[in-house]
Amino acid sequence: MFLIDKTFEFCYRHRVWTQTLDGRFSDDLTCACRHLHGHEAKVQVFLEGETLNPHGMVTDFRHLEWLKKWLNQYLDHQFVLHTEDPLLPLLVPSTLTRVPVYVDTQLAGFSLYGYETMDFASQEMMEGMFLVNFVPTSENFSKWIHSLVTEKMKPLGVRVSRVDWWETPKSRSSFRA
Ligand code: ZN
Repeated sequence: MFLIDKTFEFCYRHRVWTQTLDGRFSDDLTCACRHLHGHEAKVQVFLEGETLNPHGMVTDFRHLEWLKKWLNQYLDHQFVLHTEDPLLPLLVPSTLTRVPVYVDTQLAGFSLYGYETMDFASQEMMEGMFLVNFVPTSENFSKWIHSLVTEKMKPLGVRVSRVDWWETPKSRSSFRA
């Protein structure tokens, strides 16, 4: 089995409004993930193949350039919020249009439109908002990206064996099909 991987880095902000802690295992009960906060993310995508293509590769590393562009367009320097987050009504007007970006069987992301008539500062704020229909944990992100890459790479006959989502240099979630 041949395995290649490529890493992408970007910044994002989120809030895990569902966080709860069990004081028997954590130092205290401060749910810092419920605060509005940001990360320097690292996403690592692993592709595998039992055989190599005629060029001696699983696939060209450049065949993941679309993903770099996608991550830059939708997640880099964005505030990723759950559509069910109780804070959402305070941050994003419900009148804005939500356009799905990528939808798998369960997980979906939405870009916002319709804020052109708002004042300039509000427009800038809305430009930086990205909604998802899941709690934006690293586990859910890795599953969502796994689904996206699997779908996109199908025509090349390349399997995605794993996606890692590094929230910090010491904290990573992985999704394997
Ligand atoms: Zn976080």
